[in-house]
Amino acid sequence: MALIVQKFGGTSVGSPERIEQVAQKVAKFRAAGDDVVVVVSAMSGETNRLLALAKQISAKPTLREMDVMIATGEQVTIALLAMALNKIGVLAVSFTGAQVPIVTDSEHGKARILSIDESKVREQLNAGKVVVVAGFQGVDEQGNITTLGRGGSDTTAVALAAALKADECHIYTDVDGVYTTDPRVVPRAQRLDRITFEEMLEMASLGSKILQLRSVEFAGKYNVPLRVLHSFQEGPGTLITTDDNEDSMEQPIISGIAFNRDEAKLTIRGVPDTPGVAFKILGPISAANIDIDMIVQNVAQDNTTDFTFTVNNIDYDKAIDVLRATALEIGAGEVSGTTSIAKVSIVGVGMRSHPGVASCMFEALAKENINIQMISTSEIRVSVVIDEKYVELAVRALHTAFGLDASEK
Ligand code: ADP
Ligand code: ASP
Ligand code: MG
Repeated sequence: MALIVQKFGGTSVGSPERIEQVAQKVAKFRAAGDDVVVVVSAMSGETNRLLALAKQISAKPTLREMDVMIATGEQVTIALLAMALNKIGVLAVSFTGAQVPIVTDSEHGKARILSIDESKVREQLNAGKVVVVAGFQGVDEQGNITTLGRGGSDTTAVALAAALKADECHIYTDVDGVYTTDPRVVPRAQRLDRITFEEMLEMASLGSKILQLRSVEFAGKYNVPLRVLHSFQEGPGTLITTDDNEDSMEQPIISGIAFNRDEAKLTIRGVPDTPGVAFKILGPISAANIDIDMIVQNVAQDNTTDFTFTVNNIDYDKAIDVLRATALEIGAGEVSGTTSIAKVSIVGVGMRSHPGVASCMFEALAKENINIQMISTSEIRVSVVIDEKYVELAVRALHTAFGLDASEK
């Protein structure tokens, strides 16, 4: 008998029929003798609907009230799933994040889990019940409802699995595993049987939506056996593994391609090239709580420098304002920016032992006449910033260039 934490995403609980299907699936595991904790997302589209609703009331609602509101999406699904389970004779009880309790910090909208008291969940499991927990939400030490950021139900599931020392954590979704890239963009993408935590971390942090980044961090840190599976189709899914180098000879150089359209680029020109200039420019940006991703600095012959960096789209307006103020203060030239960029990245642990991967990437993009605006690298990835309108073309070209295309599909 195993203890399994299962998470079902928005489309998997998107209608009453689907919720009943999920209940049937959970019932099968119960019948096989497993203890099951189920984490669910809001029904698909619900979180966005709630966000739009808030916008109709206020352009700048407080983050606390936003969390009170968007946490309701998951509260509806836990109750519906518990009802569906009870209806088919499976004892079930639902808990919101605060009821568990899943304690987080107070960063509304992107709270981090600090601790989970698993005793109530354990008590209900011991009483023979399936415990259905609301994903994406928690409670801070003052009792305020918090949420964990988009896609946060993945993190709830993994964190619960870690707290309960579950035997397995299953992430059920609308695709049958982790693919070499988003199968909606590249139909010839291939499902991976396994992917290392390290690679999955890169893929998630570079924009691949399949797992929320923090869920992968948690799973790696607490050694949670994590598998991504299709909610309603049988199959082995994808196992996220520690890198055991088992069959490294056969490992492909590139495991996956990630892309992110949610980035914006800002440039400040004609900055006097003196020591401390990067700090003068980026200090106020981080003081405004804006995360910076890529940075490029070019020194011109006239002893001035052009400085370019990227931020998340949602921070673009704020970042431009801060940068304009800095430009005035330090006597720099023009400030410009755009949100129509995208970042495309290739990821693979095999890169460590294979030189020339970056140039192969640049060659594939050049063949498609795609201009590279920025480049950054780490040991196991290469990222480029390109014009947003070429993102799909770039991802397809790279998928082919690195031999990732399935032979037919
Ligand atoms: P859920 O609502 O179940 O959490 P998400 O929409 O958050 O589902 O994540 C699943 C989606 O992630 C898939 O439908 C797919 O389009 C997208 N995706 C992006 N990159 C990948 C990838 N490398 N492998 C599989 N799916 C991916
Ligand atoms: N409902 C939340 C979202 O749409 C959390 C999740 O689905 O994981 O982002
Ligand atoms: Mg998700």
